[in-house]
Amino acid sequence: MTWLDLPNDTRFGLANLPYGVFSTAGEPARAGVRIGDSVLDLAAVLDDPVFAEPVLNGFMARGRAHWQETRARITELLTGQERRSAVEAALHPVSTVRMRLPFEVADYVDFYASEHHASNIGRMFRPDSDPLTPNWKHLPIGYHGRAGTVVGSGTPVRRPRGQRKAPSEELPSYGPSRRLDIEAEVGFVLGTGSELGAPIGVADFAEHVFGVCLVNDWSARDLQAWEYVPLGPFLGKSFATSVSPWIVPLDALESARCAPPGRDQPLLDYLADGADWGLDLTLEVRLNGELVSRPPFATMYWTPAQMLAHLTVNGAATRTGDLYASGTVSGPDEDQRGSLIELSWGGKEPLKLANGAVRSFLEDGDEVRIAATAPGPGGARIGFGEVSGRILPA
Ligand code: MN
Repeated sequence: MTWLDLPNDTRFGLANLPYGVFSTAGEPARAGVRIGDSVLDLAAVLDDPVFAEPVLNGFMARGRAHWQETRARITELLTGQERRSAVEAALHPVSTVRMRLPFEVADYVDFYASEHHASNIGRMFRPDSDPLTPNWKHLPIGYHGRAGTVVGSGTPVRRPRGQRKAPSEELPSYGPSRRLDIEAEVGFVLGTGSELGAPIGVADFAEHVFGVCLVNDWSARDLQAWEYVPLGPFLGKSFATSVSPWIVPLDALESARCAPPGRDQPLLDYLADGADWGLDLTLEVRLNGELVSRPPFATMYWTPAQMLAHLTVNGAATRTGDLYASGTVSGPDEDQRGSLIELSWGGKEPLKLANGAVRSFLEDGDEVRIAATAPGPGGARIGFGEVSGRILPA
């Protein structure tokens, strides 16, 4: 039991303890842990300069044993009486701090692991062929994204310009995207990397992955549709990717582990389901404050352990700060789709919002917020910090 006065239904209790980087007026950015509606300043209470750094990379690089030891020490600080007054002095209300991008992003990969999302997109982009490509159930499809344009939650997103060509147009034109969209995703942050030539097996997932965050992979569908054949996503994706401010440790998600959906193709050995790392997270997507979707991560065909195994199976090295995202999370139901192109079915069935507004894609000034919860121990809920962003005109 903590001596902190936490509401019974808090999503940031002792079972969670996510890490972030925050700053207060006149003070440099440093590491913190969220407890209830407060941030505990780790640089102030743990005698370790790594927590005074403006990114979590130094701490993440130390490895799983050290992460677990630190989590135990933080729990002790929040439950024991010995250092209570020092700990109380190091708590800041979250409403008074500014949250930062919590880690320096090394490489960024985005997957495409939801069968429902891939099938929906396949039907819209390639109406005359099978929705899933022949490889889809044999390997987790992904592409290398742009690490340098991964931004922290709350960073405004400027509408990208680019080449777009509607099917009805004879030639492409250059201008602001007319089909700007979101992708509600879950991100996995590597703490310890791997050497060139040394793949990470599915069973070693938890040795390498430090924690989990939420990702909004902003997508310009018109740019994407025109450019993606034959080499895949490029400028339709690389203008901005937003991540949530709190990294939930894998150890906080033990109660959320679940089996992925049944496989209908045999998997090669390196992807075999030895490590069960499906996760029962429920996402919530809000457009201008209104809940428009609740995508269930438990329906993802590929688990994050399989994604990491596949990402390294060719011997590619990984580094501290690598981020890989799941791909849009979409469930089987219409109100479980994680992108506007699915929710409005390519613009054919625009969303009707409660305030009378209608949306197929994002308009300037629109704000999108993505949140998530997961089951914790003893009926508790684990909360993820929101990832938000507002669209600025081109
Ligand atoms: Mn994506």
